[in-house]
Amino acid sequence: MSNSESGHEKPLDFIRQRVSEDLLTGKHSTPVTRFPPEPNGFLHIGHAKSICLNFGVAREYNGRCHLRFDDTNPSKEESAYVQSIKEDVKWLGFDWGKNLFFASDYFDKLYEFALELIRKEKAFVCCLTADEMREYRGTLKEPGKESPYRNRTVEENLKLFQGMKEGKFEEGSHVLRAKIDMSSPNLNMRDPIIYRIMRAHHHRTGDTWCIYPMYDYTHCLSDALEAITHSLCTLEFEDHRPLYDWVLDTLETPCHPQQIEFARLNLTYTVMSKRKLMRLVADGHVTGWDDPRMLTVSGLRRRGYTPASIRNFCHEIGIGKKESWIDMGVLENAIRNDLNEKAPRVLGILDPLKVVITNYPEDQVEELAAKNHPQNPDMGVRKIPFSREIYIEHTDFMEDPPKKFFRLGIGREVRLRYAYFITCESIVKDEATGEILEVHCTYDPATYGGNAPDGRKVKGTIHWVSAAEALPCEIRLYDRLFNVENPDSDKEVDFKEHLNPDSLTSLPNCMVEPSLADAEPGTCFQFERQGYFCVDAKDSMPGAPVFNRTVGLRDSWAKVKK
Ligand code: ATP
Ligand code: MG
Repeated sequence: MSNSESGHEKPLDFIRQRVSEDLLTGKHSTPVTRFPPEPNGFLHIGHAKSICLNFGVAREYNGRCHLRFDDTNPSKEESAYVQSIKEDVKWLGFDWGKNLFFASDYFDKLYEFALELIRKEKAFVCCLTADEMREYRGTLKEPGKESPYRNRTVEENLKLFQGMKEGKFEEGSHVLRAKIDMSSPNLNMRDPIIYRIMRAHHHRTGDTWCIYPMYDYTHCLSDALEAITHSLCTLEFEDHRPLYDWVLDTLETPCHPQQIEFARLNLTYTVMSKRKLMRLVADGHVTGWDDPRMLTVSGLRRRGYTPASIRNFCHEIGIGKKESWIDMGVLENAIRNDLNEKAPRVLGILDPLKVVITNYPEDQVEELAAKNHPQNPDMGVRKIPFSREIYIEHTDFMEDPPKKFFRLGIGREVRLRYAYFITCESIVKDEATGEILEVHCTYDPATYGGNAPDGRKVKGTIHWVSAAEALPCEIRLYDRLFNVENPDSDKEVDFKEHLNPDSLTSLPNCMVEPSLADAEPGTCFQFERQGYFCVDAKDSMPGAPVFNRTVGLRDSWAKVKK
């Protein structure tokens, strides 16, 4: 089976092998997976890995994948996050169809299940304080102690739990706990809390409830209620699997999904937890969840990443069982590879230097043909204006260049991409500062289109825009948000200490070719020799685009061949 849209085949990962086996042996006829985000922040690239896995498996094996919001913690959740998560999943190219669920839809059923646990003498209402409970819990080395409330009668427990539901008790005074084993080596099995009192407004159920079920209890039952076949989650839930199974076994649910753990995505030069991303937003270190430096799905989108590039990245890194770190360069390569094929080429100047072509007629404007993609003629040709005054990149000129500098210098000849050969004759400087204001050149009319009929060669080809027609714009360059590979590694140092102060450089005086005036927000281009740039979807105005540099070119000063 093909498991890649990039044409790059890989052996099936252990999860897909497992799904294949279950279909082969007839254990399941249709795989059903789910992506279960908690709506307490925006999705990040780690979630994208989970989305590609869950929706990918469903797609490849003709199953289905549910989008389920794990909204059991009312104090942290907001409907705005639900909206953004839906948008991001769709944008990544996946479709849950009719299978949109909320754990909060199951609150009634979860309550009934809790009553059943009580009746089975598998749950009890506990009145230990949080501190006492911690003390009773024991440690990894020492077993815990049983709560003095553990042996309450069923009737007593039913009455108290109902009282909890009816709001008769203070927050923190009572909890419902599963009755499992206080001496289990697995701390998750030491009579875990399954319900707590919380007087908080819920984004969907309002003030109906003042008790809320815990994640571990809710998750397995939600999976079972939706008849999930394979419940795929990250490795930190491995120790929770016995509890997942205990709840379903004890309640004898007709459906018992298989939890399978895989290694989460860790990416260098970033932090991945929503809580930390939230702090960056709240403290103003970035402009929002969709800041192009953020490794959120919305940040990547704004930066110019395409859905295909993110899917290809997830395919490339694969699914494993061992924690590992992926270099940010792998993600950058994924977008480069995608845009290299798809992005139209244009000319844009980041740091304009005026060139006057002294022997070019003053009022003349020529329309020159420029290829939209050097390897793909189907992408066509556009016209770009050429005139007596143009801008070139400041870094493409040196007054007194060393030998190896193949661009423009006094007395040197270069090719203007798609235009003519020009030779620098002189420069105009600001007398006070010594700054170069203008470069004066002559052009050779015989080299129209950038070819010399006499076969003479120039070493450099540089890009340019016509001064009068060029579109002034702002370009934003981004560097990594953190200046160390793992900003989270040292628990003594706050991760924000590692923020890169130069992660954003705004260039307000750039000049790009006029064809970009009508570029749609979100569209990506290759600025020849400079990298890939995307029209910012938030700050661009009609006729006045702002460009985000998505990523640089592989070798930033690659020789542009004609
Ligand atoms: P965070 O700590 O960033 O808030 P989370 O795991 O608490 O992450 P959830 O909304 O609960 O966030 O996650 C939804 C799903 O995404 C879960 O199944 C989780 O395992 C998965 N997931 C979260 N982070 C990663 C990651 N870095 N790599 C792969 N999957 C991830
Ligand atoms: Mg979580």
